[in-house]
Amino acid sequence: MRRKTNPWGRPPWTVNFRPAPLAIPDHVDFAVVGGGFSGLSAAAWLRRYAPSKSVLVLESASLGDGASGRTGGMALAETAAGNLPGLGDVLAGYKKILRALQIDSRLTLPGVWELSRSASAMKNSPISWNDSGNLKAVRRVPGGTVDPGRVLAGLARAAENAGAQILEHAEVHALNFSDPVRLEVRHKLRGRIHRKEIRAGQVLLATNAFSLDLSGVRSAAEPKLTFALATAPLSAAQRKAVGLSSRFPFYTVDFPYLWGRLLENNGVIFGAGFVPPYLGTPARFPLGGHWTKKRASDLRRYDVRKGESAARLRWLESRVRHLHPSLASVRITHRWGGPILLTEKMLPIFRHHPHSTGVMLLAGFNGHGVALSVYLGQWAAQALLARRSLPDWP
Ligand SMILES: Cc1cc2nc3c(=O)[nH]c(=O)nc-3n(C[C@H](O)[C@H](O)[C@H](O)COP(=O)(O)OP(=O)(O)OC[C@H]3O[C@@H](n4cnc5c(N)ncnc54)[C@H](O)[C@@H]3O)c2cc1C
Repeated sequence: MRRKTNPWGRPPWTVNFRPAPLAIPDHVDFAVVGGGFSGLSAAAWLRRYAPSKSVLVLESASLGDGASGRTGGMALAETAAGNLPGLGDVLAGYKKILRALQIDSRLTLPGVWELSRSASAMKNSPISWNDSGNLKAVRRVPGGTVDPGRVLAGLARAAENAGAQILEHAEVHALNFSDPVRLEVRHKLRGRIHRKEIRAGQVLLATNAFSLDLSGVRSAAEPKLTFALATAPLSAAQRKAVGLSSRFPFYTVDFPYLWGRLLENNGVIFGAGFVPPYLGTPARFPLGGHWTKKRASDLRRYDVRKGESAARLRWLESRVRHLHPSLASVRITHRWGGPILLTEKMLPIFRHHPHSTGVMLLAGFNGHGVALSVYLGQWAAQALLARRSLPDWP
């Protein structure tokens, strides 16, 4: 049977986990909506801290169909807004979580190059690229890389092994803020939609750039699609010539933005570009702007092989080929896009739902969520179990 092509393209890893079949419960202690890094981390930790409580993860697509399966895989420190009160050491916490949950993540934390065209370059910058000016390394900051497919599968396995139930193709399309909270779920099974109401003592909405009406953050956050491509493996000589022998990932601190990293097979991922995910005509999407339902639902159906997305990917490919002579004719093996949620001042959203203290929100990592989502997923579990307060971020 031919596999259905994903309109967002295919990243160079797989999520090697499918949840066990289950009978959908009528009532759970904790419902986690969203099976990305945040939701799966929270689910695993909820069951580890409270093995007698029932935990159900509801994922509207397949695990990995959101940002977590389509990410770049750079593990970065702090948040996109920098350090925040009470945040702690994200990278140390991330490493500890991956170890505790026995996830073979391929995490390495050698450091990350910050690149710039305008700031003064490091002495002996290993990188000298041509991209709207001369891009050079300006400093090394903490961070590194993981294999996102392994992390996602590992978190799902850890959650299921700890006793959480995971249901794919189960979209929560409405919440009733009663006590207990009632979730209206549409579960797609063998091509048919089954409707079901589930009652939950508490709910964690870890839905990222989707379902902004459900999470009540539409006016405070802006979803976008962003893009990446992977090259065929580079030889040792090519890696040396382009300045990636150290295997440090990199991102620019000025614009146009560019980020990337080596894969284990010595291919390189490069990423850049944002597109507002709707098919309509307005070209601008101001923060706090109004979205109609139709536009919001277009996020899932957006095809990166067409229109503005395809143009962004072509632009990215052309930039990569011009970065350095060694990359001029490199083969591109993968092209894909994925959703990110931009927030005001780049602050993560980690608080109760405006309509209910029984519903918690965790989202809005501003393209900086590989380590942070897993780290705050653990914190969310602690907060749901009243073991720790939510942060006091604006
Ligand atoms: C191309 C790309 C590159 C990136 N690179 C990096 C990087 O190198 N470093 C970094 O730190 N960050 C990066 N990011 C950001 C990082 O991947 C995200 O911050 C992180 O994966 C967010 O995890 P999440 O669990 O919050 O969201 P997601 O992984 O998006 O999970 C949310 C899930 O909720 C599900 N869902 C939504 N609505 C419903 C509903 N109503 N009912 C049920 N389920 C629902 C979705 O299907 C989805 O699976 C990148 C993102 C992209 C797209």
